[in-house]
Amino acid sequence: MQLRGILLRGGSSSVKLAGKFRNVITLCLLVFMLSAGAFPAGQMTSTILIGNSRIDVVVEEGKLETSKEDLLKWVQWSAESVSTYYGHFPVLHLSLRIVPFDGKGVRGGRTFGKDGGFISIHVGSHSSFADLSTDWMLTHEMVHLSFPSVAETHHWIEEGIATYVEPIARVRAKHMDATEMWREVVRDLHQGLPREGDKGLDNTHTWGRTYWGGALFCFLADIELHRQTSNRKGMEDALRGILNAGGDITKEWPLEKALDVGDRATGVAVLRPLYDKMKDQPYDVDLPALWAQLGIVQEGEKVRFVNDAPLAKTRDAITYGTPSSSLGADAAQPAFSAFVGRTKGSSAGR
Ligand SMILES: [Zn+2]
Repeated sequence: MQLRGILLRGGSSSVKLAGKFRNVITLCLLVFMLSAGAFPAGQMTSTILIGNSRIDVVVEEGKLETSKEDLLKWVQWSAESVSTYYGHFPVLHLSLRIVPFDGKGVRGGRTFGKDGGFISIHVGSHSSFADLSTDWMLTHEMVHLSFPSVAETHHWIEEGIATYVEPIARVRAKHMDATEMWREVVRDLHQGLPREGDKGLDNTHTWGRTYWGGALFCFLADIELHRQTSNRKGMEDALRGILNAGGDITKEWPLEKALDVGDRATGVAVLRPLYDKMKDQPYDVDLPALWAQLGIVQEGEKVRFVNDAPLAKTRDAITYGTPSSSLGADAAQPAFSAFVGRTKGSSAGR
Protein backbone atom coordinates (compact mmCIF):
# COMPACT_ATOMS: atom_id res chain seq x y z
CA MET A 1 0.00 0.00 0.00
CA GLN A 2 1.49 3.24 -1.09
CA LEU A 3 0.52 6.49 0.54
CA ARG A 4 0.76 9.58 -1.56
CA GLY A 5 0.34 12.60 0.60
CA ILE A 6 0.27 16.11 -0.72
CA LEU A 7 2.12 19.04 0.66
CA LEU A 8 0.66 22.46 0.18
CA ARG A 9 1.62 23.83 -3.19
CA GLY A 10 2.71 27.41 -3.59
CA GLY A 11 -0.06 29.73 -4.67
CA SER A 12 -3.61 28.85 -5.51
CA SER A 13 -5.60 28.79 -8.67
CA SER A 14 -7.82 31.66 -9.62
CA VAL A 15 -9.91 30.46 -12.50
CA LYS A 16 -12.97 31.90 -14.07
CA LEU A 17 -15.53 29.19 -14.64
CA ALA A 18 -18.89 29.54 -16.26
CA GLY A 19 -20.67 26.24 -16.14
CA LYS A 20 -18.39 24.78 -18.76
CA PHE A 21 -18.59 21.24 -17.47
CA ARG A 22 -21.42 20.49 -19.83
CA ASN A 23 -18.99 20.76 -22.73
CA VAL A 24 -17.40 17.45 -21.88
CA ILE A 25 -20.21 15.49 -23.44
CA THR A 26 -18.31 12.24 -23.90
CA LEU A 27 -17.56 12.05 -20.22
CA CYS A 28 -20.68 13.51 -18.83
CA LEU A 29 -22.10 12.28 -15.61
CA LEU A 30 -25.59 12.21 -14.31
CA VAL A 31 -25.94 12.77 -10.64
CA PHE A 32 -29.24 12.25 -8.90
CA MET A 33 -29.58 13.57 -5.42
CA LEU A 34 -32.19 12.97 -2.81
CA SER A 35 -32.70 16.60 -1.99
CA ALA A 36 -31.10 19.97 -2.39
CA GLY A 37 -29.72 22.25 0.27
CA ALA A 38 -27.04 22.33 2.89
CA PHE A 39 -25.64 19.23 4.47
CA PRO A 40 -27.42 17.80 7.47
CA ALA A 41 -25.48 16.50 10.40
CA GLY A 42 -24.50 12.91 9.78
CA GLN A 43 -22.71 11.02 7.14
CA MET A 44 -23.79 11.19 3.53
CA THR A 45 -22.89 8.68 0.89
CA SER A 46 -23.34 8.97 -2.83
CA THR A 47 -22.15 7.19 -5.91
CA ILE A 48 -21.01 8.69 -9.18
CA LEU A 49 -20.50 6.53 -12.25
CA ILE A 50 -18.12 7.76 -14.91
CA GLY A 51 -17.64 5.48 -17.90
CA ASN A 52 -17.12 2.03 -16.45
CA SER A 53 -15.85 3.41 -13.16
CA ARG A 54 -17.61 3.98 -9.89
CA ILE A 55 -16.80 6.63 -7.30
CA ASP A 56 -18.31 6.07 -3.87
CA VAL A 57 -18.33 9.35 -1.97
CA VAL A 58 -18.60 9.39 1.80
CA VAL A 59 -18.93 12.75 3.51
CA GLU A 60 -18.02 12.46 7.15
CA GLU A 61 -20.13 14.05 9.81
CA GLY A 62 -19.63 17.78 10.15
CA LYS A 63 -20.93 21.13 9.02
CA LEU A 64 -20.61 22.19 5.38
CA GLU A 65 -22.23 25.31 3.98
CA THR A 66 -21.89 24.16 0.40
CA SER A 67 -24.79 22.25 -1.13
CA LYS A 68 -24.61 18.57 -1.90
CA GLU A 69 -25.02 19.40 -5.58
CA ASP A 70 -21.99 21.67 -5.53
CA LEU A 71 -19.88 19.22 -3.57
CA LEU A 72 -20.66 16.42 -6.01
CA LYS A 73 -20.13 18.74 -8.98
CA TRP A 74 -16.61 19.38 -7.63
CA VAL A 75 -15.98 15.63 -7.53
CA GLN A 76 -17.49 15.30 -10.99
CA TRP A 77 -15.33 18.05 -12.51
CA SER A 78 -12.19 16.54 -11.03
CA ALA A 79 -13.12 13.09 -12.36
CA GLU A 80 -13.95 14.56 -15.77
CA SER A 81 -10.59 16.30 -15.94
CA VAL A 82 -8.61 13.17 -15.18
CA SER A 83 -10.78 11.07 -17.50
CA THR A 84 -10.32 13.52 -20.35
CA TYR A 85 -6.54 13.37 -20.03
CA TYR A 86 -6.33 9.59 -19.71
CA GLY A 87 -9.28 8.65 -21.95
CA HIS A 88 -11.05 7.05 -19.00
CA PHE A 89 -11.08 7.21 -15.22
CA PRO A 90 -7.89 5.51 -13.95
CA VAL A 91 -9.44 2.87 -11.69
CA LEU A 92 -12.71 0.96 -11.77
CA HIS A 93 -13.63 1.76 -8.19
CA LEU A 94 -12.63 4.72 -6.05
CA SER A 95 -13.67 5.31 -2.47
CA LEU A 96 -13.60 9.04 -1.76
CA ARG A 97 -13.77 10.21 1.84
CA ILE A 98 -14.55 13.89 2.39
CA VAL A 99 -13.86 15.23 5.85
CA PRO A 100 -15.24 18.67 6.84
CA PHE A 101 -13.02 21.02 8.82
CA ASP A 102 -13.68 24.40 10.37
CA GLY A 103 -12.42 26.80 7.73
CA LYS A 104 -12.35 27.44 4.00
CA GLY A 105 -10.91 25.68 0.97
CA VAL A 106 -9.57 22.20 0.33
CA ARG A 107 -6.59 20.58 2.03
CA GLY A 108 -5.04 17.38 3.27
CA GLY A 109 -5.56 15.21 0.18
CA ARG A 110 -4.12 11.70 0.37
CA THR A 111 -4.38 8.83 -2.07
CA PHE A 112 -3.92 5.12 -1.38
CA GLY A 113 -3.99 1.98 -3.49
CA LYS A 114 -6.02 -0.02 -1.02
CA ASP A 115 -9.40 -1.43 -2.01
CA GLY A 116 -8.77 -0.52 -5.63
CA GLY A 117 -8.26 3.17 -4.88
CA PHE A 118 -8.97 5.38 -1.88
CA ILE A 119 -8.74 9.16 -1.51
CA SER A 120 -9.24 11.13 1.69
CA ILE A 121 -9.57 14.91 1.43
CA HIS A 122 -10.68 17.74 3.72
CA VAL A 123 -13.18 20.46 2.79
CA GLY A 124 -13.65 23.64 4.82
CA SER A 125 -17.08 24.21 6.34
CA HIS A 126 -17.19 27.75 4.90
CA SER A 127 -16.14 26.77 1.38
CA SER A 128 -18.19 28.19 -1.47
CA PHE A 129 -18.56 26.62 -4.89
CA ALA A 130 -16.00 29.16 -6.16
CA ASP A 131 -13.51 27.63 -3.72
CA LEU A 132 -14.30 24.12 -4.91
CA SER A 133 -14.45 24.90 -8.64
CA THR A 134 -10.95 26.41 -8.58
CA ASP A 135 -9.52 23.63 -6.43
CA TRP A 136 -6.60 21.68 -7.88
CA MET A 137 -6.07 19.18 -5.08
CA LEU A 138 -8.75 16.62 -5.82
CA THR A 139 -7.68 16.42 -9.47
CA HIS A 140 -4.07 16.02 -8.30
CA GLU A 141 -5.10 13.15 -6.02
CA MET A 142 -7.09 11.45 -8.77
CA VAL A 143 -4.08 11.62 -11.11
CA HIS A 144 -2.18 9.59 -8.51
CA LEU A 145 -4.54 6.70 -9.24
CA SER A 146 -3.13 6.43 -12.76
CA PHE A 147 0.46 5.40 -12.04
CA PRO A 148 1.94 2.36 -10.28
CA SER A 149 3.52 2.63 -6.86
CA VAL A 150 7.30 2.86 -7.16
CA ALA A 151 10.12 2.74 -4.62
CA GLU A 152 10.30 5.66 -2.20
CA THR A 153 13.47 7.00 -3.82
CA HIS A 154 11.42 7.69 -6.96
CA HIS A 155 8.62 9.50 -5.12
CA TRP A 156 9.34 12.50 -7.39
CA ILE A 157 7.80 10.72 -10.39
CA GLU A 158 4.51 10.16 -8.55
CA GLU A 159 4.27 13.77 -7.35
CA GLY A 160 5.73 15.13 -10.57
CA ILE A 161 3.11 13.48 -12.77
CA ALA A 162 0.28 14.60 -10.48
CA THR A 163 1.66 18.16 -10.36
CA TYR A 164 2.24 18.38 -14.10
CA VAL A 165 -0.90 16.65 -15.39
CA GLU A 166 -3.44 18.24 -13.01
CA PRO A 167 -3.73 21.71 -14.60
CA ILE A 168 -3.47 20.35 -18.16
CA ALA A 169 -6.24 17.86 -17.41
CA ARG A 170 -8.44 20.68 -16.07
CA VAL A 171 -7.80 22.78 -19.19
CA ARG A 172 -8.68 19.90 -21.49
CA ALA A 173 -11.95 19.31 -19.64
CA LYS A 174 -12.63 23.06 -19.89
CA HIS A 175 -12.50 23.55 -16.14
CA MET A 176 -9.48 25.87 -16.30
CA ASP A 177 -8.31 28.60 -18.63
CA ALA A 178 -5.21 27.82 -20.71
CA THR A 179 -3.49 31.17 -20.10
CA GLU A 180 -4.04 30.78 -16.37
CA MET A 181 -2.56 27.29 -16.54
CA TRP A 182 0.61 28.49 -18.29
CA ARG A 183 0.84 31.49 -15.98
CA GLU A 184 1.03 29.10 -13.04
CA VAL A 185 3.50 26.78 -14.77
CA VAL A 186 5.80 29.71 -15.60
CA ARG A 187 5.44 30.96 -12.04
CA ASP A 188 6.11 27.63 -10.33
CA LEU A 189 8.21 25.29 -12.47
CA HIS A 190 11.55 26.92 -11.61
CA GLN A 191 11.12 25.50 -8.11
CA GLY A 192 12.03 22.13 -9.61
CA LEU A 193 15.43 23.22 -10.90
CA PRO A 194 18.53 21.75 -9.22
CA ARG A 195 20.23 23.84 -6.57
CA GLU A 196 23.78 23.70 -5.30
CA GLY A 197 24.72 20.24 -4.09
CA ASP A 198 21.92 18.54 -6.02
CA LYS A 199 22.47 14.84 -6.66
CA GLY A 200 19.65 14.18 -9.11
CA LEU A 201 15.97 13.37 -8.71
CA ASP A 202 16.52 9.97 -7.10
CA ASN A 203 18.84 11.41 -4.44
CA THR A 204 17.52 14.89 -3.67
CA HIS A 205 14.34 14.55 -1.65
CA THR A 206 13.45 18.20 -1.14
CA TRP A 207 9.93 19.55 -1.63
CA GLY A 208 10.96 21.50 -4.73
CA ARG A 209 12.72 18.60 -6.45
CA THR A 210 9.98 16.13 -5.50
CA TYR A 211 6.95 18.09 -6.74
CA TRP A 212 8.37 20.53 -9.27
CA GLY A 213 11.49 18.55 -10.17
CA GLY A 214 9.17 15.68 -11.04
CA ALA A 215 6.95 18.08 -12.99
CA LEU A 216 10.04 19.39 -14.79
CA PHE A 217 10.87 15.83 -15.86
CA CYS A 218 7.33 15.46 -17.28
CA PHE A 219 7.48 18.85 -19.02
CA LEU A 220 10.83 18.10 -20.67
CA ALA A 221 9.61 14.63 -21.67
CA ASP A 222 6.45 16.15 -23.14
CA ILE A 223 8.41 18.63 -25.26
CA GLU A 224 10.82 15.94 -26.45
CA LEU A 225 7.97 13.56 -27.31
CA HIS A 226 6.38 16.28 -29.44
CA ARG A 227 9.72 17.06 -31.06
CA GLN A 228 10.46 13.46 -32.00
CA THR A 229 6.96 12.78 -33.32
CA SER A 230 6.21 16.11 -35.03
CA ASN A 231 3.55 16.83 -32.39
CA ARG A 232 1.71 13.55 -32.97
CA LYS A 233 2.51 12.10 -29.54
CA GLY A 234 2.79 13.62 -26.11
CA MET A 235 3.15 12.75 -22.44
CA GLU A 236 -0.50 11.71 -22.28
CA ASP A 237 0.20 8.93 -24.79
CA ALA A 238 3.05 7.59 -22.65
CA LEU A 239 1.02 7.86 -19.43
CA ARG A 240 -2.03 6.26 -21.02
CA GLY A 241 0.20 3.43 -22.21
CA ILE A 242 1.42 2.82 -18.66
CA LEU A 243 -2.10 2.93 -17.22
CA ASN A 244 -3.57 0.74 -19.95
CA ALA A 245 -0.81 -1.84 -19.40
CA GLY A 246 -2.20 -2.23 -15.88
CA GLY A 247 0.09 0.26 -14.17
CA ASP A 248 -2.35 1.90 -11.78
CA ILE A 249 -1.86 2.76 -8.10
CA THR A 250 -2.83 -0.71 -6.93
CA LYS A 251 0.31 -2.16 -8.58
CA GLU A 252 3.92 -1.96 -7.49
CA TRP A 253 6.33 -1.62 -10.39
CA PRO A 254 10.00 -0.81 -10.75
CA LEU A 255 10.21 2.71 -12.16
CA GLU A 256 12.26 1.49 -15.13
CA LYS A 257 9.41 -0.82 -16.13
CA ALA A 258 6.89 2.02 -16.13
CA LEU A 259 9.20 4.26 -18.18
CA ASP A 260 9.89 1.48 -20.70
CA VAL A 261 6.18 0.74 -21.06
CA GLY A 262 5.58 4.45 -21.65
CA ASP A 263 8.30 4.60 -24.29
CA ARG A 264 6.90 1.54 -26.06
CA ALA A 265 3.46 3.15 -26.08
CA THR A 266 4.72 6.21 -27.95
CA GLY A 267 7.21 4.36 -30.14
CA VAL A 268 10.06 6.73 -29.26
CA ALA A 269 12.66 6.46 -26.51
CA VAL A 270 12.17 9.57 -24.38
CA LEU A 271 11.29 8.70 -20.78
CA ARG A 272 14.10 6.25 -20.08
CA PRO A 273 16.91 8.35 -21.61
CA LEU A 274 15.67 11.47 -19.80
CA TYR A 275 15.52 9.54 -16.53
CA ASP A 276 19.12 8.42 -17.06
CA LYS A 277 20.12 12.07 -17.40
CA MET A 278 18.15 13.36 -14.40
CA LYS A 279 18.25 10.53 -11.86
CA ASP A 280 21.65 11.00 -10.24
CA GLN A 281 22.98 14.38 -11.33
CA PRO A 282 21.74 17.96 -11.50
CA TYR A 283 20.31 18.55 -14.94
CA ASP A 284 19.91 22.24 -15.39
CA VAL A 285 17.42 23.71 -17.82
CA ASP A 286 17.17 27.22 -19.27
CA LEU A 287 13.49 27.75 -18.57
CA PRO A 288 13.30 31.37 -19.86
CA ALA A 289 14.67 30.13 -23.20
CA LEU A 290 12.04 27.40 -23.27
CA TRP A 291 9.20 29.84 -22.55
CA ALA A 292 10.43 31.96 -25.46
CA GLN A 293 10.56 28.95 -27.80
CA LEU A 294 7.08 27.90 -26.75
CA GLY A 295 5.80 31.43 -27.27
CA ILE A 296 4.79 32.16 -23.70
CA VAL A 297 5.43 35.75 -22.66
CA GLN A 298 4.92 36.91 -19.12
CA GLU A 299 3.23 40.32 -18.88
CA GLY A 300 2.72 41.37 -15.31
CA GLU A 301 0.32 38.95 -13.68
CA LYS A 302 -0.65 37.34 -16.98
CA VAL A 303 0.89 35.48 -19.89
CA ARG A 304 0.41 36.07 -23.59
CA PHE A 305 0.90 33.52 -26.38
CA VAL A 306 3.10 34.20 -29.42
CA ASN A 307 1.79 32.07 -32.24
CA ASP A 308 4.78 32.31 -34.57
CA ALA A 309 7.22 31.11 -31.91
CA PRO A 310 9.29 28.06 -32.95
CA LEU A 311 7.43 25.68 -30.62
CA ALA A 312 3.99 27.32 -30.67
CA LYS A 313 2.42 24.19 -32.16
CA THR A 314 4.01 22.10 -29.42
CA ARG A 315 2.57 24.48 -26.82
CA ASP A 316 -0.89 24.02 -28.31
CA ALA A 317 -0.49 20.24 -28.48
CA ILE A 318 0.62 20.10 -24.84
CA THR A 319 -2.30 22.31 -23.84
CA TYR A 320 -5.10 20.74 -25.85
CA GLY A 321 -3.84 17.25 -26.69
CA THR A 322 -2.37 15.28 -29.54
CA PRO A 323 -4.52 13.69 -32.28
CA SER A 324 -4.25 10.31 -30.57
CA SER A 325 -5.34 11.69 -27.21
CA SER A 326 -8.41 13.24 -28.82
CA LEU A 327 -9.25 9.83 -30.23
CA GLY A 328 -8.86 8.39 -26.78
CA ALA A 329 -11.30 10.86 -25.34
CA ASP A 330 -13.83 10.03 -28.04
CA ALA A 331 -13.46 6.38 -27.16
CA ALA A 332 -14.32 7.04 -23.53
CA GLN A 333 -17.32 5.20 -22.24
CA PRO A 334 -20.68 6.94 -22.46
CA ALA A 335 -22.40 8.52 -19.53
CA PHE A 336 -24.10 6.64 -16.77
CA SER A 337 -26.02 7.45 -13.69
CA ALA A 338 -25.27 8.04 -10.09
CA PHE A 339 -27.29 8.03 -6.93
CA VAL A 340 -27.09 9.33 -3.43
CA GLY A 341 -27.91 7.69 -0.16
CA ARG A 342 -27.24 8.53 3.41
CA THR A 343 -26.09 6.56 6.40
CA LYS A 344 -26.47 8.39 9.66
CA GLY A 345 -24.19 8.02 12.61
CA SER A 346 -22.32 5.14 11.10
CA SER A 347 -18.73 4.65 10.19
CA ALA A 348 -19.63 2.57 7.15
CA GLY A 349 -17.67 3.31 4.05
CA ARG A 350 -14.19 2.82 5.50
ZN1 LIG B 1 0.47 14.14 -4.55
